[in-house]
Order: sequence, then C-alpha cells, then structure tokens
Amino acid sequence: MRLNRRQTLAAALAAGAAAGLPAMLRAQAAAPSPSAAPAFLTPFGHASLMLTLGGQKILVDPVGGADRYASAETPAAVLVTHEHGDHFDPEVLAAVVTEGVALIVNPAVAEKLPEALRSRATVMANGDTGEVAGMPIEAVPAYNLTPERTQYHPKGRDNGYVLTTPDHGRIYIAGDTEATPEFRAQKDIAVAFVPMNLPYTMEVDQAVEGVAEMAPKVVIPYHHRGNDPAEFAEKLRATGAATAVAIVDWYPETDDPKGPSS
Ligand SMILES: [Zn+2]
Repeated sequence: MRLNRRQTLAAALAAGAAAGLPAMLRAQAAAPSPSAAPAFLTPFGHASLMLTLGGQKILVDPVGGADRYASAETPAAVLVTHEHGDHFDPEVLAAVVTEGVALIVNPAVAEKLPEALRSRATVMANGDTGEVAGMPIEAVPAYNLTPERTQYHPKGRDNGYVLTTPDHGRIYIAGDTEATPEFRAQKDIAVAFVPMNLPYTMEVDQAVEGVAEMAPKVVIPYHHRGNDPAEFAEKLRATGAATAVAIVDWYPETDDPKGPSS
C-alpha cells in the first residue's frame, strides 16, 4: 500500500488493519485482554499476600513460616480473615506483628490469639468499619451458602475486607466465601481477590456468576487450589462481563496452575 502524504498515520493504520489483519488476530483484539497483576501486589502463595498502598504494606493472612516474610518490609498492618490454617498462623503473626504494626482480626481469631497479640488486636466483626494505615476498611461477611459446606465457614464468623485506597480505588479481599448476596452487592470495586475451590469456597461457575454481578474492574482468582484460573477467565469472558482477569502464580512450587494435588 502506498501512502498518500496527506493521509494521517491513524487513517493509514486503520486502513492497513482492515485490509491486512488475519481474522484470528482481529478476534483476539476484540476480546477483553487479560490484565497484568497489579504492581502493588506481592503474592506469597494460596491466600497469603501483601499490598503496597501509598508506600505502606498491608499483609493479609500470612502463613507458611516466618521465613517467608523475612525479606518483606515491616507492614503497617496485618489482616486476618479467619481461623483456618491456610489463613491464620499464630507463629507467623508473632514474627510479623512487631511494635507499631496494626493487627486486624475477626472475633473468633481474636479468641485464639496468644495474650500478647490479643491485647493489641483490633477486632472487626462482619459489617464493622474502621481505618487502617489511614485508609477506610470494612469487614464483609465471608461464608458458605451451600448446606454441605456451611460447616467450613458458618455465616457470621469470618471476614473479607474492603480497603478504600487513595491510589488504586476499592480493593476487596473476599476471604473464604461463596458468592453471597454481600459479595455480589459490592460496589465500585477496582480489584477483587476471589477464591474458588471445593469444598471450602465455591466452584468456578459460581465465582463467574458472582463476579459478573459484582462487576469489579479487575478480578484476581486466588485460593484456587484444584481449579485452573484460566478456565474461570474464559467462562467470565463468555458472559460478556467487562471485568479483566489477572492471573497470578499462587502456587510457584508446582508447574500446575491448579496447585499441588494434595
Ligand atoms: Zn482457606
């Protein structure tokens, strides 16, 4: 194609695209592309993560041995969603919750804390609001809806958290939950961390449905041992949802995106 000097670059590109792009490439361009993991996220595995917000670190559900967090900077705050071993580890908390670090827990975890930590913890029950590291925080109920699963996370006990951040909008860490009415009703979420594994949380299809209704800008599958997050991304895209999916490697110890088979 010869360019007329008066053609703008944009027009030339558009003409070239219409004429020359293979059909497969055009199809790819039309689908929402997967999002890169946000730079503020440090994944430590499964459901343990750190957010760097406004220069401050917020550590969530740190487990797996204190060594894992030794190289991380001292956090401003540590959030614990609930008492299960893949979210709550008193030994790790004793190591990372040093002088001046805020600790936010649900009431059931507060009762399980060693005295030295319990006296310093801020307890948030479902629906409570507060402030952490200068940011508004809300405790969102996290629970199972399916009768055979309510033994794992009974309603009223465990938390998810929504942080309203100055630079990155509202970040929702859902915790161990199904797509409850409270989950679906979250508004203006920029980034949602959403679990998907059975029998503890929900299957991929329920996560797809719930996320399509919540409509966050970006969703990050986590706590998905046993499920491939790419399957979730594909099914969410098929609903026509505008939400981008960021796939993060939560299980680096294995090549399997579903995590270790245990
Ligand atoms: Zn869990």
